[in-house]
Amino acid sequence: MNKKRIVWGSILLGLPCVLLPVILMGYLAWMLNLASAQQRLETLAAVASSRANGTFNEAAGALKAIAGSELAPCTPESIDEMRLLTINTLTVKSVGYVEQEIYACGSWGLVGQHVTPWREDFTTADGVRISLDVQSRIVPAKPMMALQYAAFNVLVDPAQFLHVMLDEDLHLAVGTAAGDLVGVSRPGAEHFLTRVHSGPTSGLQDGYLYTLVHSGDWVAIAALSRRDLLQGLIRMEMLLLPIGGLLAGILALLIIRRTRQCLSPLAELQQAVRNREFVVHYQPIMDLSEGTCIGAEALVRWQRPDGRLVRPDAFIPMAEHSGLILPITDQVIECVMRDLGPLLVEQRDLHVAINLAAEDVCSGRFLPKLEAALSQTGVRAHQIWLEATERGFVEIDSARNTVNQARALGYLAAIDDFGTGFSSLQHLQQLPLDVLKIDKSFVDTIDKAPDAGSVINHIIEMAKSMRLQIVAEGIETPAQLDYLRDHGVHFGQGWLFAKPMPAEEFQRFYQEQASVVIDHDAQEPVLQ
Ligand code: C2E
Ligand code: CA
Ligand code: CA
Repeated sequence: MNKKRIVWGSILLGLPCVLLPVILMGYLAWMLNLASAQQRLETLAAVASSRANGTFNEAAGALKAIAGSELAPCTPESIDEMRLLTINTLTVKSVGYVEQEIYACGSWGLVGQHVTPWREDFTTADGVRISLDVQSRIVPAKPMMALQYAAFNVLVDPAQFLHVMLDEDLHLAVGTAAGDLVGVSRPGAEHFLTRVHSGPTSGLQDGYLYTLVHSGDWVAIAALSRRDLLQGLIRMEMLLLPIGGLLAGILALLIIRRTRQCLSPLAELQQAVRNREFVVHYQPIMDLSEGTCIGAEALVRWQRPDGRLVRPDAFIPMAEHSGLILPITDQVIECVMRDLGPLLVEQRDLHVAINLAAEDVCSGRFLPKLEAALSQTGVRAHQIWLEATERGFVEIDSARNTVNQARALGYLAAIDDFGTGFSSLQHLQQLPLDVLKIDKSFVDTIDKAPDAGSVINHIIEMAKSMRLQIVAEGIETPAQLDYLRDHGVHFGQGWLFAKPMPAEEFQRFYQEQASVVIDHDAQEPVLQ
């Protein structure tokens, strides 16, 4: 995945991730606000309707009590009883007795006045006749509710039906089950009385959130205006939006961190391992006396998606540090077998040197992989040289174990960059090795500082005394070649012969130099 795609991917993922918590908190604030408003309205409407029913029941109870009295109507005792009832019953303002359109008496005493019968709005199941809007003799300007039973009536102040504690943003209306209005404590909710017969009993309509609750013959409607609802929403959002913002910030930070990680060199290398972006180049290893190619060193390169080749020095240290070197070694083994398997089967004298990292040597986990690859291709173990630097032998016991195992299987073990570390000699003594590779830095000294040659001479002598095959690395000049050959170094590699090259090129190189040797029966190194 290239950097642009990672950045765009993060932006595309990041935007919804950042917006989502804010949107969710906004939505949550709306839902919570709505739920809390609905709860308030339901509570108020339930309390108010039950209050209305209670008020009615109290007044109706008093009415039935006086109607059931055994006292003869309009006697002084009966009038006293009416007065007592008015005083003792909070909801009842007055009691009256009407017979044949004559208001005979009431809690006011004897009257004897002709009255026009009140319009009856409805009759309850137990026979109480209700007139909602009547004019009373007491306060003619104030409409009253009249309850009639037999010849008796009581007057009730409709305000009693609305006697509940009310928050100042709420609207309350009380009506009959038939949809007639009894009274409002704050205008606004009354027009929802039409919903008594049809339509939902709660909802957000006509600029109000409303709820309608029945109790007996009465309904109460509580409502909240859209403006007040929005104000509640703003309060709720002021609580929740900062949480949404905080979540969005945390998500944004996580995405930025993840993007950075994805863009980090290590993430790129991990991606490269997943995508198998490694190729192997081969540097010929020459027989210095014969001038023939006897093998090749496999040198890994990271081929970036844009085709660029990255040299191992730029990523092997990171791969070793992160443990990614293990899958890289596996991929190198696969590449080598795929690239040179047939040639190695054809040319049994040819070998390939594979570089191992310290972790490979310690764990030895490449060995089964190598064995499987060999059995698939038919390449023989002696055609594979395993190279490791001194760092690979630091954990000497596990290293010795791996080297022993590898040699027992037929592989050759080589110490690479010999002489550059601190413990070369110690390693030489403790490990059963086959090949010693003289580091380029010593080869470089040959034609630069003549007296420095003594070090390389010592290395050569020591290797000979231990019967190790010697490969000199980094041969760049004919003088170096002459010197090494004269001092009995068997093999060498370097730009003098060839630089590392892709597999096909190496195969061509190998075939061409072989045919040159055969054709001319050459005694001199062909590439001199
Ligand atoms: P090395 O194992 O010492 O490999 C030899 C390095 O010297 C190679 O560098 C090669 O291109 C370079 N070289 C060869 N002849 C000459 C010459 O005449 N002049 C000069 N100036 N350089 C020459 P390269 O390919 O860049 O590899 C560098 C190092 O990366 C290797 O050093 C080896 O330690 C490591 N490496 C390469 N491939 C692998 C691999 O598959 N696994 C592991 N673990 N390490 C690898
Ligand atoms: Ca090497
Ligand atoms: Ca080397």
